[in-house]
Amino acid sequence: MDGLSGGGLFVLVTTWLLAAAVGLSLLAARRKLHATRLALTDSRQELEQLLLAVPKIIWRTGPTGLPDLVNKRFSALTGANVDDPRAVDFTRFVHPEDLPAVQATWAQARATRQPFLVRFRLRHADGNYRWMSSTGRPSLSDSGEVRRWYGGIIDIDCEYAAVEALRQLNVTLQQRVEERSHDLARSEARYRRLFEVSNISFCEQDIGEAKALLDGLKSKGVTDFRGYVTAHPEFLDRCVNAVRTIEVNEALARLLGYGDRAELAAKPPRQNAENAMQVLTNQLEAAFHGWSNIEGRTILIGKDDRRVPVFYTVRLISETIQVSSHIDLTERERIEAQRMAAQSERAQSNRIATVDALSTSLAHELNQPIAAIMTDVGTGVRWLQADPPNTEGLLRVLRRLEVNGQRLADIVQRTRDQLVKGKRDIGPLDLIKLAFETQSLLEGDLAARGTTMTITCAPGLQPVAADRVELQQVLVNLVLNGMEAMVDLPRGDRSITVTAQSVGEGFIQVAVADKGPGIAEENLAKLFQPFFTTKPGGMGIGLQICRSAIEALGGTLRARNGEHGGAVFEFTLPVA
Ligand code: ADP
Repeated sequence: MDGLSGGGLFVLVTTWLLAAAVGLSLLAARRKLHATRLALTDSRQELEQLLLAVPKIIWRTGPTGLPDLVNKRFSALTGANVDDPRAVDFTRFVHPEDLPAVQATWAQARATRQPFLVRFRLRHADGNYRWMSSTGRPSLSDSGEVRRWYGGIIDIDCEYAAVEALRQLNVTLQQRVEERSHDLARSEARYRRLFEVSNISFCEQDIGEAKALLDGLKSKGVTDFRGYVTAHPEFLDRCVNAVRTIEVNEALARLLGYGDRAELAAKPPRQNAENAMQVLTNQLEAAFHGWSNIEGRTILIGKDDRRVPVFYTVRLISETIQVSSHIDLTERERIEAQRMAAQSERAQSNRIATVDALSTSLAHELNQPIAAIMTDVGTGVRWLQADPPNTEGLLRVLRRLEVNGQRLADIVQRTRDQLVKGKRDIGPLDLIKLAFETQSLLEGDLAARGTTMTITCAPGLQPVAADRVELQQVLVNLVLNGMEAMVDLPRGDRSITVTAQSVGEGFIQVAVADKGPGIAEENLAKLFQPFFTTKPGGMGIGLQICRSAIEALGGTLRARNGEHGGAVFEFTLPVA
């Protein structure tokens, strides 16, 4: 130590200290380096974990575009080994149809050094393709050179399928709309063509504005349209004024004498028909209630006040459009008028024929009572001139005269009633009583012809519904015919039977039978024909009148030959 001077010791110490300090700082640097290495490893591992955890493919390339990193997600999806990305041909996994677009995009991005996005189908491990979206962006140096490309690929198959389905739906929808529009246009064109060329006249009216007024009414709670417009004519006026004629077809213009359709269309609807207000009110009522159509007859007013009777139909073809069509009734009504005139002419001639027939029948019916009166008058004169005068006989004759006179009056009255108004006095009638009355009426004739008349009837016979005078005429005719048929019989054999009985189903039957020769087979069908007679001086009208009278009362009259000879005339009448 003695050998060391103070300065030498100082240098030695300083050098040692220096060496120690250098050694220490080297140690610290080495420690730091180690720590940095550890941190780097950590962060690489973290990055690798991150790359693994991200649910998308991450890739990176060098400046030339050669892939140098692809995360495990790629091999998980495609089944490919990407440990060394440089050795993998990635184009193998792209759908051949999408490859050109992918390559073009990639080339363009590299040329322009711009980020890119491309969609393509990626083949998966199961051989199926799924739509993917790949993005990439370059990392540039300060001088603008590409150092690396970084990118990611995500699965967009579901989204793509949804978008594709939506696109497909849109296409279908659009097609449908086009088809529908086309159909609509076609049917509109067809409707227009029909509208134009039809021989039936059409008129199209817009009732939109009126409909709005009507809807307003409804919202106020009005349900009785008619009642409301009757009470508020000014409202009806507003609605009618709101109806606009949009178009009329050629046929309607022709029908109403217009050369120019527009001129007719411009005419206010309320001037179009004689009862236009009524027709328009009907139209508005239909719109109010939502009825699909209304119809009726009206007289349209055309050019130069031309009147055309038509049958119209108004149809609601949309919410706001009504189309009316018209059928010209001019010809039909002219024919109808002619028919009515012909009918009234016929009625007139029928009337004349009826009067003829009635006068004939009157002459026939009056014949018998007048003859009876004449006989009675003769008898009366004889009774009066007898010595002493037979007052009792005279009285009887006078009473018969009175009855026959009344009968004449009745016949005349009834004939007049028939002529004037076809009047009959139908009521419940006691048949037997009437038969006895008839017998006494014919007393003189019966006595003169030596004929007996017997009336038989079942007990409790109900009255019939008939006109008394008419039914008596029937009985008189049948009894007189019977008497006439028996003229050739010895007087004691001449007898007539009148039988009345119920025949069920609400009818009474009366049979007038005689003992005469009956009716020849060939005449049976002709008896009731007018003017059929086998008698000299006969008129052949009595049976026809009888049948009409009975049938008018709802009964029937027929003739037959009796089982024991003679003729039988049977008629039925409804119970009153
Ligand atoms: P008219 O008595 O004027 O001939 P009717 O119409 O009463 O007219 O009778 C038509 C015909 O019916 C008679 O001409 C006669 O031939 C026949 N006839 C009617 N009643 C009888 C009767 N009771 N018996 C036979 N024939 C009869």
